[in-house]
Order: sequence, then structure tokens, then C-alpha cells
Amino acid sequence: MKKKQFKAESKKLLDLMINSIYTNKEIFIRELISNASDAIDKLHYRSLTDKKVKVDPDEFAINVSIDKEKRTLTISDNGCGMTADELENNLGTIAKSGTLAFKEENKPKDVDIIGQFGVGFYSAFMVSDHIQVISKAYGSKDANMWESYGADGYAISETTKDGYGTTIILTIKEDTEHDKFSDYLDANKVKEIIKKYSDYIRYPIKMDVEKEQLKDGSKDEYEVITQNETINSMLPLWKKNKSEITEEEYNNFYHNNFYDYADPLKTIHTSVEGLCSYNALLYIPNHASYDFYSKNYEKGLQLYSNGVLIMDKCGELLPDYFSFVKGLVDSSDLSLNISREILQKDHQVQLIAKNIEKKIKKELEDMLENDRENYEKFFDAFGMQLKFSVYNDFGIHKDELQDLLLFYSSKEKKLITLKEYVANMKDDQDKIYYACGESKDKIDLMPQIEQFKEKDLDVLYLTEYVDEFAIQAIMNYDNKEFANVSSEGLSLDDEEDSKKIEKENKDNKDLLELMHKTLGDDVHDVRFTSRLKKHPVCLTTEGPVSIEMEKVMRAMPTEDKIKASAILEINESHPIAQKLKDLYASDKDALEKYTKVLYAQARLIEGLPLDNPTEISNIVCDMISK
Ligand code: ADP
Ligand code: MG
Repeated sequence: MKKKQFKAESKKLLDLMINSIYTNKEIFIRELISNASDAIDKLHYRSLTDKKVKVDPDEFAINVSIDKEKRTLTISDNGCGMTADELENNLGTIAKSGTLAFKEENKPKDVDIIGQFGVGFYSAFMVSDHIQVISKAYGSKDANMWESYGADGYAISETTKDGYGTTIILTIKEDTEHDKFSDYLDANKVKEIIKKYSDYIRYPIKMDVEKEQLKDGSKDEYEVITQNETINSMLPLWKKNKSEITEEEYNNFYHNNFYDYADPLKTIHTSVEGLCSYNALLYIPNHASYDFYSKNYEKGLQLYSNGVLIMDKCGELLPDYFSFVKGLVDSSDLSLNISREILQKDHQVQLIAKNIEKKIKKELEDMLENDRENYEKFFDAFGMQLKFSVYNDFGIHKDELQDLLLFYSSKEKKLITLKEYVANMKDDQDKIYYACGESKDKIDLMPQIEQFKEKDLDVLYLTEYVDEFAIQAIMNYDNKEFANVSSEGLSLDDEEDSKKIEKENKDNKDLLELMHKTLGDDVHDVRFTSRLKKHPVCLTTEGPVSIEMEKVMRAMPTEDKIKASAILEINESHPIAQKLKDLYASDKDALEKYTKVLYAQARLIEGLPLDNPTEISNIVCDMISK
């Protein structure tokens, strides 16, 4: 028997291919089973187009068997088989795919064929020392064997075989320090791998599986029996017709595949035909998994190529802002051998990802519009992710996402969208007002809120620390700017009132300057205000950093602490205003103490700590014991 060298592609190439394309050795099983399935597809297709080809579709099957003694794993099919020439052409040249040629020649519409790359078969060399391929082409009397011990070549010889199809016998390598190759001789392990990657192959994959069962007539004695089983479930749920699938089936599939005990909030099942055809089954969970907001969380969808799993978490299929979505995509336009690096640039994958993103967005908008109760549940779980995403990457995704956000409205007393806020704005209102604080109740009691209530203006209550960052990233919505009720420049006064307060500040310039001096760098300014109604004092801020943002940044482990530029504002219509003026004239020492106490009050109202609690406590005690 004459041994031939692999054509053109040298030993080096084979080594390179085996060791670099596949990082995961167990996938050789997936490759061989996919080839068997392709071969059956081809024969099936021929039987549909050629009357002379008579096969019974019910007989199609892939058989897997193990011989531990001989260390062999055998996979056989009753597909199209190969002639000696085909063995030579298809297995003698690496990266020459007979399947691709078949596809190009026949342009079959209804057959989905997995292989199109021409390297899958060789992955078997990762685990075997010796490979025999015994094949008889359909309609031929002769059988042939292709045989190889690895990269140094192969030989083809005549042999005998019952029935058409292909039998591949792998002699599994001895175990090494790093690899337990014997796993591939363990029926349960092999079964597990087949289930994992090839569960949705359309033909039955049969195998002898050992099972323990009670001995006849015994109550506690077990015996091991061997049973031939079909181990794949064949028709994937997502390839079934939507109308044939019950909600329970969808939910069970979700529980089993995505490890969530709770039912999903929404199931999205689509099938797209076109430039790139695919089926997708997507789920929006009803709660965030324990690790969702942690660094360990890995986004991604399962990626299948025509029913065969090629990647468990394909991150490229989901934008970060929809990272909470679970599910899978199955496309017949993808190659089995696609690697992560190729994926990132793969045009088909990008196309699918774009479509999926649109689909998810549309479904969320739909839920927001028609099923507010569930949307609020969704937002409760994942709203934070959306808000983070609005703010991340300098706000480049804000246009996609801003209409999916909800904020609590002081007037409506429920969550509303920005669109709803704007629709309910007063005719002469030009800003979207918001207030920040730890809770709705606390914001409700803020001195700065009083005048908005009096004027019946809606204010969005932001209680999550990311909220204000998101709002600032949006900058303006529908040409309306956002305004923090605590920002220094914000005035609801008419012109007359503004002039009055301006004059008041001018007339008391010396008093205010002295108060500022007392507080030093802690505040940017001290002034009288007309924004307060009953409350004596409040803090406002100037510039982009608000008090709430300062709190967030304080909590971060960074070196430089960014500070809000705070202004102490005093209610000019409160008796305290007159008291301060009197003290300026009569008792500057007392004025200093009053100033410190007022500033401390303003900080406490904002939920900020005091730098000098003992001093303040002593001053207050002096005052009340007088
Ligand atoms: P691909 O499947 O990507 O084409 P492979 O390396 O997996 O590449 O297989 C090479 C070729 O060998 C296939 O295209 C097919 O023509 C042929 N082949 C492999 N396995 C079988 C089989 N079980 N029956 C018939 N032909 C096969
Ligand atoms: Mg293949």
C-alpha cells in the first residue's frame, strides 16, 4: 500500500491548524457528527431530486460506539459515503471542503449543511493516534479505507463494508499529564459531549449507554445493563413553529439552558430570512442574577450553526446595554470553525447583532407602551444598566436609550418617561426639573422643592446615584435642558422679584462677605434667596458637580476628591434674615456662630456629614442654655 503525503499543506500546517483553531479538544466529536449529518443531508437531498436514489428517511442514523479494550471510538453514518477518489480529494487535502463544493454545485434550498471550511475532520487528530475512514458511496459496490497515523501522510486501500455510508474509527491516544484522553472512551462522557454540542442534529444519534437497574425480582440488588439509546433531542425548540410551542415549553427551555429558577419576563422568538438568515430565541429575565452588576458577569448569546453549538457565550451578538438578555442565535450561514477573533470581524455576525439589537429595543418599547406593569418590573431589575449605558462612553448611546428610561414624577406620583414629562410641561416651562436625594420621601422634604410645589411644576426625583450622571450625559431632551432644583442659577422668580433679591444681596454685601469669610473655602458664596418659602436655609451648587455627585465621588476609591461648588442660601423672608442683619450691627462674634450653625443645618438637610460636629454641638448647646 503506497503511502501518500498530504497535498500541499504540510505537516506544519496540520499541526498549526489542529493546535490553533481548536482550543477545546472535545469538539472533535461535534465535527465528526456534523460531517455525518452533512453526509446524510446530501443523500437525502439526492433522493429528493433523483428518482433512482431510493432511501427510507426513517433509517437515517448516526451510530456511536466505544471499545475500551482497543481504545477505539467509532462514529458511523448511512449518508452518501465516499468513493476512493472522494476520500482522496476530501480527506487528502486540508481545507478542501467537499461540502462547500456540493453547496456551490447544487445550490440546495432546503438542505442546511454545516461544513464549509474543510478542516473539521482533522480535529480528530487532537485525540487520536490512528484514524480509519471506511466508506462506501451510495450506489457503488466498492468500499475503501482511508487511513492515517497523523501528519506524515495517509493511505487509501480497498476494503469491504456492509451498506453505504461512512464509518470512522479513532484510536484514542494514551492519557498524558495534561489530557485525560480516556474520557473519550467513557460512554457517559461522550454522551454528555454529544448532548452539549449536537443535541439538535436532525438525525438520531444512537449509542449504547450503561444503566443501573433493579435486578429482576430484587428490591435492593442492582445490575448494569446496556441499552441502545437515541441521545439527541433532534428538533430544536427554536426551529419549531411558534404556534406549536407552549409558554411552558419556552419557560422550561429557559430554566434548563440559562439556569434561572424564575420564569422570564418576556420571550422573543424570531426567524429572519434575508441577507443573513437566522432563528433567535431571546429571553428578558425578570430579575438580575446575583452577579449581573459585577465584573464577573459575562454577556452573550449561545451561537449555533444550523443546530450545532459553536459558542456558549458570544458577546459580539449583544450590545453592552442589553447585556441582561439571555438566549441563542442559530444561523445556517455561519461556519462551524469560526474563532473568536474571526467573529469580531465577521460580517454575518455583525449583521445579526444589529438586527437583534433592534428587535430587543422594539420589544422593550412595546412593553413600555402596552404593558407598563411588566416594564416597571423590567426597569426595576435592569434600569440601572440602561442608565449606566446612557452615561458610559461619553454618552454615545444616549439617543438609543433615553426613551427607555423611567424617573419618578413628583406630580404624577409614579414613574414616567422623559417624553411623558415633556408632554405635560406647562406652556411657559422651558426646562426639565430634577432633584436628587436618597429617597423620594427625603427629596419631598427638601427646601428647594417648596417653590416647585407652589407653582405646580413637575420635578423628577432621582434617587439612584447613577441617575444624575445619566441626565447630565443626555444634556437636553427634545431641546429642553435639564435643571437641578438645587443649582444656583435656577430661578423661578419673575423679573421684579429677581431685582428685589439682587438689591437685597447688594445692600447686605458686607454681612454676606463676613459670613463667607467665617466659612472659608467650604462654600463658594453666601447669599439671600427668594427660592425658599418656609425653610430658613439650603445649599445650592454652581457648575456641573452637584452635591449628590460629590457624594458618589466621595465614595469612590480615587485620590482626588472632586467637590461641588456649594453656595449657602438664606431665605430672605425668614425671620433669621433679619436676625443676621441685627447681629452684624451688634454682635459679630454671635454672627460667626450663627453662620456656622446655619451652614451645618444646610449640610445636614443635604445628608452631608459635618467636618466639625463637636464645635457645632457646643455652639448649639450654648445657644439653647442661654
Ligand atoms: P467540512 O465539513 O468543513 O467540509 P471536514 O474537514 O469536516 O470539512 O470534512 C472534509 C470533507 O470530507 C467534507 O466536506 C466531506 O466532503 C467529506 N466528509 C467528511 N466526513 C464525511 C462523512 N462522514 N461522509 C461523507 N463525506 C464526509
Ligand atoms: Mg466538517
